[in-house]
Amino acid sequence: MSDSPINKSRRGFFTGSLLTREGRQKVAKQINRLGLVPPGLTIASTVENCSNCSGYCAQSCPQKIIRIHSENHELSAQPFLDFSTNGCTFCNECFTACPQTSGHQSTQTSLGKAHLNQQQCYAWLNIICMSCISVCPDQLIKFDKSSKPTIQLENCTGCGSCIKVCPATAINIIEQTAA
Ligand code: SF4
Ligand code: SF4
Ligand code: SF4
Repeated sequence: MSDSPINKSRRGFFTGSLLTREGRQKVAKQINRLGLVPPGLTIASTVENCSNCSGYCAQSCPQKIIRIHSENHELSAQPFLDFSTNGCTFCNECFTACPQTSGHQSTQTSLGKAHLNQQQCYAWLNIICMSCISVCPDQLIKFDKSSKPTIQLENCTGCGSCIKVCPATAINIIEQTAA
């Protein structure tokens, strides 16, 4: 298979960067996916299948939570979810907007499960905080008598709506791999 100019320049960038520790750290960051794949786009969000349209899905999202990996990232032009301002409503708009999903059906209604890190959570560290008490659309975050929160995971969809309100960045979403 012939090597495209893009592949050559990308390889040159990585090779040069690997010569220093800072460069190696930068490269490690640029290889890791920066967030979860938007629901329904798993089919399109692989190196092979994403057509690198650079953003029909992002433009379509009413919640404005789809970001695109930058040019110098291995996953350049592919989408990821950023829950810092909003959560996903599973509205399906990104699936509909993606040129690669035609002929497929979107059935994804879950992104994973929320994980509450008790070592980071202010309430668990005995600092008063109830910021997440009412943000969950399914009311799955419960505070006990001593004002410590836990998440009822059984029905959690990993929508990420609880992330933006947490001042301690104690909540993240653990991706569920497809069965
Ligand atoms: S399903 Fe809707 S809210 Fe969720 S990422 Fe796609 S467009 Fe945004
Ligand atoms: S607990 Fe689960 S369902 Fe509730 S807001 Fe957080 S991620 Fe969404
Ligand atoms: S918002 Fe964050 S720090 Fe506050 S109680 Fe909830 S998980 Fe803990």
